[in-house]
Amino acid sequence: MLETVKAINEAEQLVTAQYRVFEENAYINGVRILQAFQEARVRDHHFYGSTGYGYGDTGRAALETVYARAFQAEEALVRPQIVSGTHAISACLFALLQPGQKLLSITGRPYDTLANIIDGGHKRSGSLREKGILYGEVALDHDGKADTDAIVRAVDKDTRIALIQRSRGYRLRPAVSIAAIKTLVETVKGQNPDCIVMVDNCYGEFVETDEPCQVGADLVAGSLIKNPSGGLAPGGGYIAGRSDLVDTVAYHLTAPGLGRAMGSNLVDKRWFFQGLFMAPHTVLQALKGAVLFSALFGRAGYRVDPEWDEPRHDIIQSICFDNAPDLLQFCQVVQNCSPIDSDVKLEFGHLPGYEVPVVMAAGTFVQGASIELSCDGPQREPYSAYLQGGLTYEHCRYAAGRLLHHFRGKPKDGGGIGGV
Ligand SMILES: *Cc1c(COP(=O)(O)O)cnc(C)c1O
Repeated sequence: MLETVKAINEAEQLVTAQYRVFEENAYINGVRILQAFQEARVRDHHFYGSTGYGYGDTGRAALETVYARAFQAEEALVRPQIVSGTHAISACLFALLQPGQKLLSITGRPYDTLANIIDGGHKRSGSLREKGILYGEVALDHDGKADTDAIVRAVDKDTRIALIQRSRGYRLRPAVSIAAIKTLVETVKGQNPDCIVMVDNCYGEFVETDEPCQVGADLVAGSLIKNPSGGLAPGGGYIAGRSDLVDTVAYHLTAPGLGRAMGSNLVDKRWFFQGLFMAPHTVLQALKGAVLFSALFGRAGYRVDPEWDEPRHDIIQSICFDNAPDLLQFCQVVQNCSPIDSDVKLEFGHLPGYEVPVVMAAGTFVQGASIELSCDGPQREPYSAYLQGGLTYEHCRYAAGRLLHHFRGKPKDGGGIGGV
């Protein structure tokens, strides 16, 4: 155990400059959000829940105003009725795409759960393909970066939406920086000025000091149980961007004619407000944790991505193992280090929307919330654990220590699941 403590102390020495960068970003984002609260004149009566149709829910309106400002957008929808990030993205796509128009993913293959939205693979799946919407994909280049030349060739007059995935998802490729998003927006608009640039913003929120709409993206969407919730929001999703687009998505989400004017918030809205207020700080905790894991496991000989000293554009840290049992065991120890369900024994299993079995460690206060320390691993090569979140740095540090201790004691290519 002494050796582990020493390794942690050394790693923390190494990464102090990185931590300073994250702290500065958290400050800038935190102040922008604080000012958004002040401008929207948030009052405690905005926290009350609403019932029925939810007409005149002034708290809902205030929350959406604050979110719009936080995301540097004209308008936002922030709704508990959006069940997940996938639902938020799906709502945008179905609202804005007509038969014969094309969706073009310009950052390679999209996140697993989006595959079903694009092509459900069977009849009556309700997918975009079934509705006659076309789909194209521009593969990433050798470095895992967006291929601008290929994008120039692929965007045409029928390309209605160009989709960018900001975070790495379950792939070993770099996250897309805000600077890169700016270039991609310019590239797409240079070919077709009417093409909507939409960003799957999951896990990217508040990692940098600007959000995609600030650099020209038309629409962003994501989950409230990831970065923007500060760990407090009990669920939901958000969509932010150009007001005409957000309005159209709202008509799809509720019904034409109803739009954003309806939708009650049955629970106390304080969780959503306070969560957003906390979000930059919580993202900071998660980023510090990710870098600590990267330094510790990188130095212990594991393939890590990103490396501890690389710039970060999302909160995800991947650590590669040689085999499925090691990956499972890593996730199991993360689970054992959690405040909730720490004694649960994990296994690989099928989840709706994912093509291969996955193991998910999430001993979280909010079910499945991946802004809390959590870890996912798809059962496929290169057996990478995707670690993310951490409400407190202390929790990350504790888990990193236990994991390092555990994996140091075992040979790197050893299989089999021992006791944990
Ligand atoms: C998490 C995630 C989503 C949405 O996932 P949900 O579990 O439906 O919230 C979409 N894209 C990426 C890249 C993600 O990480």
